[in-house]
Amino acid sequence: MKFCTYAACTKPRVNRSDLCAQHHTRRTRYGHPAAGALAPSDLRVIAPHVRFLLKPQGPLARSPRLDAQLVALALDTVDRIVIQPGHRPLPPRVNRRDARYLLAIGLHRLQHPRYTRPPLNPRGQPTLKSQPLGAHEALVVVLTAWCAATIPGAITRPLRLPGPLPRFPDERSVAMLLGGAVLARRQHVGARMSGLPRWELGKRLAEELAPMAAYVATLVVARMKLQAERKLARISQQQTPIVPTTNTTAPTQTTRLRLAL
Ligand SMILES: [Zn+2]
Repeated sequence: MKFCTYAACTKPRVNRSDLCAQHHTRRTRYGHPAAGALAPSDLRVIAPHVRFLLKPQGPLARSPRLDAQLVALALDTVDRIVIQPGHRPLPPRVNRRDARYLLAIGLHRLQHPRYTRPPLNPRGQPTLKSQPLGAHEALVVVLTAWCAATIPGAITRPLRLPGPLPRFPDERSVAMLLGGAVLARRQHVGARMSGLPRWELGKRLAEELAPMAAYVATLVVARMKLQAERKLARISQQQTPIVPTTNTTAPTQTTRLRLAL
């Protein structure tokens, strides 16, 4: 029996892979054997930038935003791939592991929320998750996940390792991430989604939205850098310089010495 080749893992290899089942799945989904899903805190930083860029440009706006025509085309694409299939009746089940059938279920659930207890926000109102997923929200989810995965220095929180790890996104892991991000907004609680429909949906989204996503990622990086610079400038303005007033080190040293003696 051969063992998993990742670090000190002692589990047997799976099928033809050089890794065990867990590390193999992680490499397929996240691009590295030890990587995990993106942390919600990473997505929360990027999502406001994406929402800002998607808004129409006003006459007084100084920061550049995305072209309205480009946004309209992207919304059409997302509507065709994610929203419309959810309104169609479910196809007959031929094979339990058929990616297209599993994807059809996932997309159907996004448009037909069913909850015994709908999720509520702190004020007690139903959240966005209890409403059918719209094209705009889906586009924000896709672009945010894409930026988080491909921005240089993006990190992931691994499951059983102490620190964060850099991401190593390849084509497949980005597609898995995009499909997963959209389907994770699924409405039916307790339903588990396998990797097949994620890959199927992510592949389609990546094919059609790749040029736009690369452009958005560049703009988001620029905005984040500018934000960090402004923050630093503000801190340096507010900070009062530290001026040494009296020399307090000498007496304490002598008292300590006396006490030790
Ligand atoms: Zn392993």
